[in-house]
Amino acid sequence: MDALDGNAIAGLLHNVFSSEMTTATGTCATCGSASVVGELMVYLQAPGTVVRCPVCGNIMMVFVRRKGMTCVDLTGLAHMAA
Ligand SMILES: [Zn+2]
Repeated sequence: MDALDGNAIAGLLHNVFSSEMTTATGTCATCGSASVVGELMVYLQAPGTVVRCPVCGNIMMVFVRRKGMTCVDLTGLAHMAA
């Protein structure tokens, strides 16, 4: 499965966070690397949308659309700064 970059989910992120997030910096909870969201690895064909750390491959964010809501799992994300 080919990974896209974080820009592929700019609209999804804007819907969830009500802000432009592709230029925000996310810190991986596993390896501590800080990456611009637009540079994260995005997999759209996983169950839901999976966002992985470009350094260690840790799953940083998962978005699942269910019953008209978007469920968000950010447990792999230590920190996010705009
Ligand atoms: Zn990492």
